[in-house]
Amino acid sequence: MAYAYDDQNIFAKILRGEIPNDTVYENGQALAFRDISPAAPTHVLVIPKGPYVSMDHFTQEASEEELVGFMRAIGEVCRLEGISDEGFRAISNTGHNGVQEVPHLHVHIIGGRPLGRMLM
Ligand code: IMP
Repeated sequence: MAYAYDDQNIFAKILRGEIPNDTVYENGQALAFRDISPAAPTHVLVIPKGPYVSMDHFTQEASEEELVGFMRAIGEVCRLEGISDEGFRAISNTGHNGVQEVPHLHVHIIGGRPLGRMLM
């Protein structure tokens, strides 16, 4: 699938500094900030700095540096938030069936309480 990236999406605006965010962690390839509508005590969104619509787009077109930097950011966020040991959930809603609202790849890091079984 060929992806068209909409640079007017809200996370693109956050990356350009046009909209404020509550940053938790940042490296050269990724930004992590608190979700505006948290579902749990910890609810952080990790996004790549590059223009990728989804996990599918990212894993097809991102460089090794981008892939590694993004995954490292997820680990750093969990350690900084103190949820690595107790456990957490990492979710990337994708496309129509995944009910993805913002068309810039993001992984939700959710933790800080027992989360129950995922609904399938
Ligand atoms: P999605 O349904 O996986 O695309 O989730 C998008 C997420 O972005 C939702 O959990 C929203 O609460 C969150 N969100 C939307 N706008 C902002 C914002 O400006 N800052 C932080 N989180 C946001």
